[in-house]
Amino acid sequence: MTPHDPPSPVQPRPGPPRVWLPRRVWITAAAAEQPHTAEIVRRCEAAGVTEIETLSGNRLTGLSGGSEREVYARAKSTLAVVVAPPSALKPQPIPPSADWRIDLARGCPAHCQYCYLAGSLTGPPVTRLYANLDDVLAGIGTHAGRGTVTSASADRAHEGTTFELSCYTDPLGLEHLSGALALAISRVGAGAYGAEASLRFTTKYDGVGALLDLDHARRTRVRFSVNAAPVARRFEGGTAAVSARLAALASMARAGYPVGLTLAPVMPVVDWREAYGQLLDDVATALDGVAGLDLTAEIITHRFTPGSKEVLLGWYPQTRLEMDEERRTPKRSKFGGVKFVYDKTTMAEMRSWFTAELDRRLPNARLLYWT
Ligand code: SF4
Repeated sequence: MTPHDPPSPVQPRPGPPRVWLPRRVWITAAAAEQPHTAEIVRRCEAAGVTEIETLSGNRLTGLSGGSEREVYARAKSTLAVVVAPPSALKPQPIPPSADWRIDLARGCPAHCQYCYLAGSLTGPPVTRLYANLDDVLAGIGTHAGRGTVTSASADRAHEGTTFELSCYTDPLGLEHLSGALALAISRVGAGAYGAEASLRFTTKYDGVGALLDLDHARRTRVRFSVNAAPVARRFEGGTAAVSARLAALASMARAGYPVGLTLAPVMPVVDWREAYGQLLDDVATALDGVAGLDLTAEIITHRFTPGSKEVLLGWYPQTRLEMDEERRTPKRSKFGGVKFVYDKTTMAEMRSWFTAELDRRLPNARLLYWT
């Protein structure tokens, strides 16, 4: 990677949020029978979507055909409203972030060239909203009090049983069309699933307006996924600007939410210390004076798998994202898979810098993990 852009200050920018408008909305026959679907349709119409179609069956057809880029473009501009299959209703452990994973949706409308979903989702990258919300959220009730990840950690047990909402989607990026996040936050805030449950999600969007006045009871932690200017500028598309995410972070913190930073994916770009130093300083400026601030940080270095590289190169053939196995260290998982991470020296250098500078520039931030 050879970016030579100097770090530039990123000031919080208030303004209209970045909202995604799908070109078409498809509702499967089964989803059409779900009560929450009417709310999704209302929101889509209010947002200005004109092509809303109820399918005669439950399969999404018509996405394939043409070049890989054409399939990608068609899928990324389509919102499908579907019923979550039974496999998606069973919460799974999701270390190191949370005890359990709950999926409000699957897929994301943004265009990040390093997207971590590339390695975990198959098929055309259509965004699916789950219409059977009560079934999806029921997993919180059945699994509260049964956590084995953060619940088993001395540092994080006080969070209660944690449920991660952003494993397979960016839930805030879809909230104007779904309302699922507000419902989940309100129910957990009201104790509908017991006193143990807490939610967390991460986002690259900024449309937090509808969440600010909810009775969240400080049981939802919203983290904003941010990156240094050379990385965000070059590799993130369709997301809110980093400055807008920082403004949203400050708004949520002022509304009493526990907040966090997902610094990801961290890359040793040219002048990375200056670039990430500027980012941390911008966060400090945005959060200056927020009373009762509860701030965490999660830091994830860039990595890729053979599968994610292949998918990403199909989606973004011109990308300048460095995915060179020769320059990386393979790391094998216990399931036999391999991912390529930075070499030991680079990892150690970055880890020590981030740990020290987080402490120095954001002394209130609690580092949850580095990976
Ligand atoms: S916002 Fe997250 S999930 Fe969406 S495209 Fe970017 S990296 Fe992928």
